[in-house]
Amino acid sequence: MSIKKIIFYSIISSIVLSSCQKSVQQKSGIKEESTSIKSETKQTPNNSEQILTKPEIPILCYHRISDNSKGDYTVSLATFAEHLKILSDSGYHSIVPDQLYDYLVYNKTLPQKPFMITFDDSREEHSTIAAKEMAKYGFKGVFFIMTITYNKKNYMTTEQIAELAKNGHIVGLHSWDHTMATKYKDSLDWQKQVVLPKAKLQVITSKPVDYWAYPNGVFNHEAASELSKYFKMSFSLSTKRDSLLPLQSVRRMITTDCSGERLLKSMRRTFDKN
Ligand SMILES: [Zn+2]
Repeated sequence: MSIKKIIFYSIISSIVLSSCQKSVQQKSGIKEESTSIKSETKQTPNNSEQILTKPEIPILCYHRISDNSKGDYTVSLATFAEHLKILSDSGYHSIVPDQLYDYLVYNKTLPQKPFMITFDDSREEHSTIAAKEMAKYGFKGVFFIMTITYNKKNYMTTEQIAELAKNGHIVGLHSWDHTMATKYKDSLDWQKQVVLPKAKLQVITSKPVDYWAYPNGVFNHEAASELSKYFKMSFSLSTKRDSLLPLQSVRRMITTDCSGERLLKSMRRTFDKN
C-alpha cells in the first residue's frame, strides 16, 4: 500500500469512528444526562445560616434492643415494636441521609411527616431484630458501625452489614474503636479512626460511606471541620449545632424505653421550633 493510500484510509476511518461515537452518545442519552447534571450543579447551595433556619427533621438514635439488659441506652423488643407501630400509624415516613442532605442544602421536598431512624454501635440485634421489624412498615434505617466490632460476639458480622446495605438501608461510620473525634491528635489517628475504616466499610457494602456519627455524640468545631473532608453529614446527639458547620453537627435524639405516645412527645419537644 502506498503512503498516500494509508493516509487516505486513516482519515476515512477516523471520520467513521467519530460519527459512530456521536451516535452512541446520542442514543444512550449521555448528552442529555450531562446537560441535566450541569443544570443541577448550577443551583446555589444553602449557606450555613439558611440551613439553620430550616425546620429540623426528627432523628431517632437507638443503641441496644434487648430484654436482658437495662439502662438509658436499651429499649425492650416490645418497646421498639411499639415505637415503629405508632410512627407508622401516625403517618411518619422514614427518610435516608441523602434525602435529608438534599432538603437542607437544595430545599428538595421530603415525604409527609419525615423522620430518620439511626442505630449506633453495630449491635447484632440491629440486623436480627431492628431491620426485620422495620421491614413490616417499609422503613429504612441508618446503621453507624464502629469497625473494631466486625464479627465479634453480640455484634454484626461483615455479611450482616453488607446485607443491610443491599436491602436499602444506609451504612455509616462510627469510628474504629469508639474514641471520640475530639481526641484525634494527628494524621495517624485520623487514618486509624476514619480513613481506613471508611475505605474498608465501602468495600464490605459496595457503597459509598458518606455519613458519620460522633462517638458519644461529642464534637467540636475542629473535629467537625476535619470530618467535612470525608463525610457529607455528621450526626451528633441533642447538643447545639455548630453555627458554621450545621451539616457536620446534625442533631439526633437518644430513644429511651418509653411508650410510643411519650416518644412522639419527645420528638416534638426536641425538634419542633417554637
Ligand atoms: Zn456509640
